[in-house]
Amino acid sequence: MSGRGEFDFIRTRLVPLTRQHAGARGLADDAAVLGCPPDQELVLACDTLVEQVHFLTDDTPQTVAARALGSNLSDLAAMGAEPVGYLMALSWPERCTPAWQDAFTAALGDEQSRHGLVLLGGDTTRTPGPLTISMTLIGCVPRGQALSRSGAQPGEDVWVSGTIGDAGLGLAWEQGDASVPAACAARYTRPEARLGLGQGLRGLATALLDVSDGLVADAGHVAQASGVGLELDLAALPLSPAVETWLGGEDERALTRLATSGDDYELLFTAPPGISDRILALSNVCGVRLTRIGRVVDGQGVICRDGDGQVLSVGTAGFTHF
Ligand SMILES: [Mg+2]
Repeated sequence: MSGRGEFDFIRTRLVPLTRQHAGARGLADDAAVLGCPPDQELVLACDTLVEQVHFLTDDTPQTVAARALGSNLSDLAAMGAEPVGYLMALSWPERCTPAWQDAFTAALGDEQSRHGLVLLGGDTTRTPGPLTISMTLIGCVPRGQALSRSGAQPGEDVWVSGTIGDAGLGLAWEQGDASVPAACAARYTRPEARLGLGQGLRGLATALLDVSDGLVADAGHVAQASGVGLELDLAALPLSPAVETWLGGEDERALTRLATSGDDYELLFTAPPGISDRILALSNVCGVRLTRIGRVVDGQGVICRDGDGQVLSVGTAGFTHF
């Protein structure tokens, strides 16, 4: 820890984030203790964010907090889980002053309050390397109802929530690209995990994941896990008004850019055509747009088509971690 004592930081900034949850034990014990209702299962997800890999050095503490919690919550959404709490390991470089740390923890408090989860434990250290935030999210799901990537069957529809491509353009805007819409920046700086939708899709979606690496790359993960192929109509991609305007007059490379840029944190899922009405009803209940963008076929991998049905060469299919 730089600038002040580790224990002072834990007592004044992290303990309040536990919201006095008994299992956190005031962050005074060696570990947290958590019960689970007998008809539920725990869902655990761990994600690490590294400066200059997952966020920019110039990003505000509010952006870093929102992206850390939002991207992790999105993994719980993808399992159909309801969030309970999280463990957090923070590695602080010298540049993160006490004021930066305070703004970060205050923003975390705001974000966790919106989603009803609390800090249960973790670790803090200083580092000579980049700012690194690792979170382990803990959620609950009714026993046997957790969603999976592996149940897609040929003949089913492929759906996606919200709009695609905003966050990728938002990141470009944050990096100084004035040719993309400023309106997209918020989707990068403050991702919104589709938790209610994920819970609503339990028992409806046959395969589901969150779109974090890029739509095409993540569709590929469903195809591989399910042992099927996915055909996507890129002309059917749901776009925000700002992205729609940006796309006007652009060539199809712009469309594939949207389909391969990361950080959307939307849900991509498959479902039998016979339950389309129930899915559209869920869309109304959750207030989240749901769009059919393709179908599951025999075979493997992802095929993208344009509005004329021609196969598009998509090239790099998204963000890879290594
Ligand atoms: Mg994920």
